[in-house]
Amino acid sequence: MKRSEVDRSKLSPMMQQYMEIKDNYEDSIIFFRLGDFYEMFFDDAILVSRLLELTLTGKQAGLDERVPMCGIPHHAYASYVDELIDKGYKVAICEQLEDPKETKGMVKRDVIQVVTKGTKIDSNLDSKNNNFIANIYAFSYCFGISYIDISTGEVYCSLVEGENDKIIKEITRHNFREVIVNDDIDREIVDNLRTQHEVLVTITKDELEDKNYEYIYKNIEDVRLVKTLKHLLYYIIDTKKGDMHHLQRASIIKSSEYLEFDVNTKKNLELVETLRNRERQYSLLWLLDKCKTAMGSRFLKQNIENPLTDRKEIERRYDLVSKLSTEFILRDDLIKELSNVYDLERLVGRITYGNLNAKDLLQLKTSINALPNIKKILEELNFDKKIETFEDLFSLLDRSILEDAPFTLHEGRLIKPGYNSELDELKSISSGSKDFILNLEKEERERTGIKNLKVGFNKVFGYYIEVSRGQLSQVKDEFGYERKQTLSTCERFITKELKEKENIILGAEEKIISLEYKLFMDIREVVKRYVSKLQRVARIISEVDMLQSFSIVSDNYKFVRPEITSDKVIKMIDCRHPVVEQVMKDKYIPNDIIMDKTTDILLITGPNMAGKSTYMRQCAITVIMAQMGCFVPCKSCTMPIFDKIFTRIGASDDLVSGESTFMVEMKEANYAISEATENSLILFDELGRGTATYDGMSLAQAILEYIHDKIKAKTMFSTHYHELTVLEKDLKHLKNVHVSAVEENGKITFLHKVKVGAVDKSYGIHVAGLAKLPESLIKRADDILSVYEKKSVKKETFTQTSLFELTESEAEPKIDPIIENLKNINPLEMTPMEALNYLYDLNKEAKSKK
Ligand code: ADP
Repeated sequence: MKRSEVDRSKLSPMMQQYMEIKDNYEDSIIFFRLGDFYEMFFDDAILVSRLLELTLTGKQAGLDERVPMCGIPHHAYASYVDELIDKGYKVAICEQLEDPKETKGMVKRDVIQVVTKGTKIDSNLDSKNNNFIANIYAFSYCFGISYIDISTGEVYCSLVEGENDKIIKEITRHNFREVIVNDDIDREIVDNLRTQHEVLVTITKDELEDKNYEYIYKNIEDVRLVKTLKHLLYYIIDTKKGDMHHLQRASIIKSSEYLEFDVNTKKNLELVETLRNRERQYSLLWLLDKCKTAMGSRFLKQNIENPLTDRKEIERRYDLVSKLSTEFILRDDLIKELSNVYDLERLVGRITYGNLNAKDLLQLKTSINALPNIKKILEELNFDKKIETFEDLFSLLDRSILEDAPFTLHEGRLIKPGYNSELDELKSISSGSKDFILNLEKEERERTGIKNLKVGFNKVFGYYIEVSRGQLSQVKDEFGYERKQTLSTCERFITKELKEKENIILGAEEKIISLEYKLFMDIREVVKRYVSKLQRVARIISEVDMLQSFSIVSDNYKFVRPEITSDKVIKMIDCRHPVVEQVMKDKYIPNDIIMDKTTDILLITGPNMAGKSTYMRQCAITVIMAQMGCFVPCKSCTMPIFDKIFTRIGASDDLVSGESTFMVEMKEANYAISEATENSLILFDELGRGTATYDGMSLAQAILEYIHDKIKAKTMFSTHYHELTVLEKDLKHLKNVHVSAVEENGKITFLHKVKVGAVDKSYGIHVAGLAKLPESLIKRADDILSVYEKKSVKKETFTQTSLFELTESEAEPKIDPIIENLKNINPLEMTPMEALNYLYDLNKEAKSKK
């Protein structure tokens, strides 16, 4: 039964209420509160019962058929919501807004919040990752983009100029899982994000006009950024519906302030997760993260994804890292204190919005308690930012919140004695009466002479006096006992006095619980006033934590302080790939990466598996670490500040888009050469291998020439087209290097050592041998190879000739296709299987000619 096809006039009042609410939240699954359950109806019920494997039942709602329904107990809803959100749905929580006991007729209900991927706050968020929700606002000539982490209150915005591709790259680079877009956006962007990147996209046009949140964008002059922020803020305030004043003032992100790279580079360099298993372990982030606080870890991740370009700020960080390494005793103290600091950013988020509990305030207290010592240590380290220590707030929390307060706010036991006199009075009344009741048993036994008389309590009858059946005859009228309950073994009585005390106790307890709750909420209001100051301290602590982590890893792994130069010179001596090195330990061979003022391009040749891509990756990783303000895995390192990094490493086929490896490769190359400047770093690994030999080689050469003549970016280009090495003669700024290998008795050993000059052998068959292809097959391939090597004509490289000329030369009349074909192959580049297949084809073609 579909909701849209139902005759609403026949529906029960409650189901009509449901329908009206659902009309406003068409794109969300409604969790409709009915007593102790959240129920789903119609299509939502069918969908959710399938997704979460719940039993699908039905509800009579006035129609001929029962309405499909499924439900979950209200106390366990969080894990169900999480599961649905992970699967890409939105969930609207619809609550009863009145107490059913006190309401005549139908209870008012409404949605109190919509939970989505990007707006989760209370559920199990990963503490080491931000959870951003972003938006794109399309203007005539550019896009506005803003992103907010509701749990920490961070707000960022920027303008992105360029085509659709650019904005998609920007969204995927940040790995945003939920994006809001305005109405004018090109639907191609929406489709691309939804289908190829699994982003939850919502199209809305509303903008927030609430003056209460104006402070977030008040200082921003660019009206486009303001519009973008108001667009995202509307969605957030509309879905979360609560107080969002922990959202901070927006920071404008200018791309020139950060080292730019796209999502492929982030993946290829395994910055935050590994390529193969997509795990944090063995990523650069894993190696560098020795942070003690969750905030530090998140800040570190933000910095790996956005290294800096401001030389002054980078060198400031080096100074601090180096200071921390020399003052290692202070650093140890600092680490100890940082371990006591909880996730202040998210605590502050929960204080303003969300299910704050007493444990959160206790964590806040413990964190604040660490601040005076941290402040002192930072002063001794000459750290250039000061932190506040919030003595008043500490004292308030210390006086008020009980150390072992429970998670819930509705059972009392939250507030310490001595904090509020009214509460203390109620507590003494309640406990005085409790003492009275405890004593009563003894007194009544003495007064009545009934030895086994008991005083007890149950929820229905309250306090009572119990006399066993055998002693009943001893109960006399003058005792004033009033019969209340008869059981098989005993009778239960009450007395006037007992009931009076009971009223006092129960009344006091009810009052205590509501007073404790009120006092707790008052404290929360006071804490709220500190929100922006606490956020500032949290920011400083994140930075300090990241820097101490840099200092620790630099000491542990022998990283050195880079020297930043304004010349275009790279001189990385004994450079290592920091993660591979940790895996291989002593077996890792360090290499120099040297590109002087006159060298822009390193052309790297060497057999497969020699270490070419590792060599290139370690260069980019060194640059990224250096521009984060971290020391680097070298013996010494001089480098300029780069503005952008482009990489094409490995064959990460874009299977989803249905494009061939070659097409993806060419798109990446185009992206690099159209965006790179002379201050960029380009890494191309075996570019052109995705197509036929001559095509690939010609393209590789043309791209090298283009970079050499037009872009002048520092470039590392690995290739198996040994023919390209002759380019060194004509391209002044290109230098050959190769990764060496030695061949002994037909076996190859990789030395992983990069040397100046070129190699001219690919060792493809040897690598096949290493891969344990059958020995007979390898032997056969060797034989074929030697035949080809004898026959092969020394090939020429078309240095400094354009592709156009190459095509012309190809256009000459052909004499014999078999001969031509033979001329066009490069046996050195063929796998044994390819060689066999090729021979087979030639043989067939020759036979067909007779
Ligand atoms: P290529 O790109 O030349 O095919 P890779 O860079 O992928 O080769 O390296 C192949 C393997 O060689 C890597 O998995 C790594 O284990 C090892 N390797 C690479 N560089 C080094 C090095 N400098 N020292 C020791 N081992 C290395």
